[in-house]
Amino acid sequence: MKILVINCGSSSIKYQLLDMRSEEDYSLLAKGNLEKIGLPDSKITHKPTGKDPLVKVGPVADHTEGMKVVLDALTDKVSGVIANFEEIDAVGHRIVQGADFFNGPALVDEEVMEKIQICCDFAPLHNPAHILGIRAMQAVLPSVPQVVVFDTAFHQTMKPEAYMYALPYEYYEKYRVRRYGAHGTSHKYVSQRAIQFAGLDPENSRIITCHIGNGSSVTAVKNGKCFDTSMGFTPLEGMIMGTRCGCIDASLVPYIQKKENMTPDEMTAMMNKKSGFLGLSGKTSDMRDILGFAAEGDERSQLAVRKLILDITKLIGQYIAEMCGVDLIVFTAGIAENNPWLPVNICEHFKYMGLKMAWEMENKCKKSVEFYKECQASVKAHEVKDEAYISAPDSAVKVAMIPTNEELMIAIDTMRLATK
Ligand code: ADP
Repeated sequence: MKILVINCGSSSIKYQLLDMRSEEDYSLLAKGNLEKIGLPDSKITHKPTGKDPLVKVGPVADHTEGMKVVLDALTDKVSGVIANFEEIDAVGHRIVQGADFFNGPALVDEEVMEKIQICCDFAPLHNPAHILGIRAMQAVLPSVPQVVVFDTAFHQTMKPEAYMYALPYEYYEKYRVRRYGAHGTSHKYVSQRAIQFAGLDPENSRIITCHIGNGSSVTAVKNGKCFDTSMGFTPLEGMIMGTRCGCIDASLVPYIQKKENMTPDEMTAMMNKKSGFLGLSGKTSDMRDILGFAAEGDERSQLAVRKLILDITKLIGQYIAEMCGVDLIVFTAGIAENNPWLPVNICEHFKYMGLKMAWEMENKCKKSVEFYKECQASVKAHEVKDEAYISAPDSAVKVAMIPTNEELMIAIDTMRLATK
């Protein structure tokens, strides 16, 4: 079954076409990105498996035209991977916010569309773009089933004490103010893979999944279900990220707003786009560059690295306590997948539980330049590819790296619903 996975932004369409023979047996036929929709220099970069990439620049007016451009690339005589549109059996759309309407994927109908529309209030940058993407796909492929897969759905199993804020209850009733979490598709995929990889009992397991990329969140997964997660009403809550501040004292919002004469929108933009690694270092939001500056002695970049280690350590500690223990800690996404320095520095805090890593850092002093040089170098020294344990064989708590694959999870969910 050929499934097209779509991740629609306000000016971009990212896509993957997967041939799903079964949930375990699949291949990626092509992936790509159409950027700058609505501008004169829209650009599609199409990467078919086993063939040369195709790059085209030229105006693409809107998402409907954009979907046609994507489908043209997929069926192109030279760079295409399918002969015609009819080969696409189903389309799976990534949706950032489904609030408490959706605890799993859904087949698109008008009722589902209305609910996604209501959720625009909570994800004003993302959900309107997703709606454009679904409508465009419906226009271009009217008879193909469309499935929506929500970043928030996996977190719907949290208990009220984990998802409620201690604000007046009426705001929950009036405005649906509560914690929804995010990155759920990644946490679901990684925790399901982890259960298989480690041979755990799905009904009796305690896993902590750490998705550490440009956006980052940590989730406690008990018996295969989300128990608690670090992102909240929006992805701003939780730990330090590339440009997001994570948890701060809420009193700082009016305080800084007044001092800097900012509007609420400016304050929101500052906390989402100018904070995190970028805000602390004053230099960059990219962890590779932060490590580079830290290794050159830049103290504020070093501080950003130490804050990242501390924030994740605190979340893991909190979730171990909440779940009364942990069987497996999993690291995934850009920063954690590519560079084992991070898990090693975090996990040394859990030695007291009998957790042992496969190797240790030589330089322990987080104030020394050598420490950051070693962090930077650890990617080459301890390259981890695919799914692997990074804890020692005799560790009481296992630690693993499991590369995330949100598109595959969306394709699996789409296949399950479209073949029902
Ligand atoms: P997104 O949240 O946008 O999907 P990713 O999961 O791709 O982001 O993660 C991007 C982050 O991963 C960037 O900060 C990047 O610097 C970092 N990264 C990528 N490779 C490495 C590496 N080898 N060492 C440390 N950080 C890395």
